[in-house]
Amino acid sequence: MNAYKLAVVGGDGIGPDVTRAALAGVHAAAARCGFSIEATDFDLGAERYLRTGVVLEEETVSALREHDAILLGAVGDPRVAPGILERGLIVALRVAFAQSVNIRPVRLYPGVESPVRGVTAQNCDLVVIRENTEGLYTGGGSLSHAGTEHAVALQNSITTAAATAETVEFAFQLAQARRGRLTLCHKTNILLHAGGLWQDTVDQIGQRYPQVEHDYVHADAMCQHLPLDPGRFDVVVTDNLFGDIISDLGATVQGGLGLAAGANYNPRGTAPSMYEPVHGSAPDIAGKGWANPAAAALSAAMCLAGLGERTAALILEAAVASVLAELPSLAGPDMGRSTEELGELIADRV
Ligand code: ATP
Ligand code: MG
Repeated sequence: MNAYKLAVVGGDGIGPDVTRAALAGVHAAAARCGFSIEATDFDLGAERYLRTGVVLEEETVSALREHDAILLGAVGDPRVAPGILERGLIVALRVAFAQSVNIRPVRLYPGVESPVRGVTAQNCDLVVIRENTEGLYTGGGSLSHAGTEHAVALQNSITTAAATAETVEFAFQLAQARRGRLTLCHKTNILLHAGGLWQDTVDQIGQRYPQVEHDYVHADAMCQHLPLDPGRFDVVVTDNLFGDIISDLGATVQGGLGLAAGANYNPRGTAPSMYEPVHGSAPDIAGKGWANPAAAALSAAMCLAGLGERTAALILEAAVASVLAELPSLAGPDMGRSTEELGELIADRV
């Protein structure tokens, strides 16, 4: 029997609740498909930082590295200054574990209503592939003459051929396995250096994938095309910042943050990948049982696929989809059931 070691970081706010609900589905899928999951909890996030002053230490990174995958709920808290957890924990883990590719499916499940008119389960099934370690997120720069009228902020953006090629290669492989269409999203008319490197990389790697057609859409134009005509896209490949923005846009199109799943993926398999919903810790609804666990459960299904348990992944995804189709509302008190009850329902459905 295959056995997998899963590191579980519930985190803050709604994170622990949605993660527990997702894990119920994972254990049910493992039991049904005949493999075992050994889940180990890791105490990380804002609560721990406020208690101990520690964000992430080397021993924890080493301990996480011993696992086959990481399931993350959400981290963040209004009491913690911006950047401490985002950079110190999330970005640090992405970099430490070479999770160079971020995968965000944008899929409208049957029975779920998109807030955008005309978007249906038939025309909304695409995947945003985002470069996950570079661009403006490298964080370097400076602020000179701070607090004066002469203040100048410099924010570095780094784009390397290596990381770009790894992301683009992954996107082409995915497009080949899907509907054979890839769209590069950037701002090549303004960001000439980085944009040029992205376009050249797509053109070059595209030669090895003659079955995949590829085109290009500016990031600003994407904000119009994605909601109005999602059916035009299969795989969208883009840089770190544009990917962050358009995948939140995609989350809205697919029914809201409570439904949007994601993976921080190490395509080389040299360290664990980390699966997390697109949403944050949602302090406004924490502890109320109003969070929709679908995004976390769909991320967990991606985790099972990443472990090689494809049947279990499809079963879990289908279970989440069937539960979603029955919800009177996708979030809040009108959902009809609590986060925990939805986790049990997903597990039953598996
Ligand atoms: P972060 O900075 O951590 O990304 P954020 O400010 O973007 O946080 P989120 O935590 O993503 O905020 O939440 C944004 C809004 O979406 C909030 O009103 C929150 O209540 C709602 N929301 C987020 N996740 C869910 C969920 N799983 N179910 C229901 N509502 C959610
Ligand atoms: Mg957010």
